[in-house]
Amino acid sequence: MYPLVEEIFIPEADKLFPFSQAFADLHQEFVNHGAFSEYPHIQPPDLDNAIHPLFEYKRWVGGKTQHTEILYDRISPALRLATLFITKDLFLGWWSHLHWGHRKTDKRTGKKYITDTDIEHTEKGRRKVKERFLKMAKSVTLHFFPVGWHPDHWGETHCDRQYIPYKLHYHYWPPVDRSQPCPVIGISDQYQNFFLHDYDTATLGARVRTLFCLAETLVHEVAHAFYMHTHPWHQDQRDEPYHTLENTLDISMPELGASWQNWAVGCQVRPTYNLTGGTSALLRQYTIYFRPGQHTLPMPYGCPSFPGVHITPHFYAGLEHLWTRASDGEPDGTRVCFQVMPMKWVSGWFNKSEWRKLDAKTDEKDRFRQPGQTLLIFFETVNDGQIRCFYGKTLR
Ligand SMILES: [Zn+2]
Repeated sequence: MYPLVEEIFIPEADKLFPFSQAFADLHQEFVNHGAFSEYPHIQPPDLDNAIHPLFEYKRWVGGKTQHTEILYDRISPALRLATLFITKDLFLGWWSHLHWGHRKTDKRTGKKYITDTDIEHTEKGRRKVKERFLKMAKSVTLHFFPVGWHPDHWGETHCDRQYIPYKLHYHYWPPVDRSQPCPVIGISDQYQNFFLHDYDTATLGARVRTLFCLAETLVHEVAHAFYMHTHPWHQDQRDEPYHTLENTLDISMPELGASWQNWAVGCQVRPTYNLTGGTSALLRQYTIYFRPGQHTLPMPYGCPSFPGVHITPHFYAGLEHLWTRASDGEPDGTRVCFQVMPMKWVSGWFNKSEWRKLDAKTDEKDRFRQPGQTLLIFFETVNDGQIRCFYGKTLR
């Protein structure tokens, strides 16, 4: 056990942005936990695998607002990492389940999910997934959003180019094989901005953080596109199912992209402030919903994935049973937890030496790369409007 606990943040009025204030207060702790490490503590990307045809230059829309030609080399480490995520055997299980399973409705909850099949675990099952990705490389198109489109979205996938909700006039669209579903993946223009305008002056760490987010965004969107491709008779994205029956219990709504992130890297990694500002650390975020009637939870329960963590709150007299919510966007009885992802973990995804270690593993469960000792930050709100924050570090 590694107890390290301190209550650091009790704002009086600012309920909308409690997180960023606390992150600013904790900046030195972020630094101490490697959230901004630079060379020589992290190595520059050295992946040299071929980029999958699905992400190749010719799959990107060209024209007026699209600058892929200029920035393709700069984003190529992200494209190589995205390639590994959809081709390495250790990472194919999630896709194989989605490829082979059928939609089913859970009679008890009415929620739709994808059924288990025997074939998804076989060599043939995985081979078909690889073939599917190569087929998709003839029908999926990628582009950057028009400037200003949905600034809070990292990416969007639409089932066909005729359904994208904005116009891309005077653009060149890659040819597609119309005998297949032809999903269109859009990526936030903030990425394009970063690689076009900020890349030259960004530190190695900032580049790597942005590349990692881009790779995750790309494969997150490919997860949506993969579903549209494998289950084309359900093209309405709102009708997406849960990936598994278990998923219907742990997440509030189906989101295949998020499901892939959780499955593949163990978390959805998000920046502290801006998407691509370069100054942001990357965080794993997860939310714990208290059961009805439950007003709080013991702190160690807050880290089911990190049993080594021990956090003890410094209670204020009389307030310890008054947890309600952590932000205006969350229901009452919620604890929002953040885990700082050290740069060693982030940059390792772009290093051949880390992939050699993953290649040596045969059990799918070993795909997770552990982040090592990191900082955890929890938020809860008590119903007199005070937000309480706790932080501690993980054992390993
Ligand atoms: Zn999504």
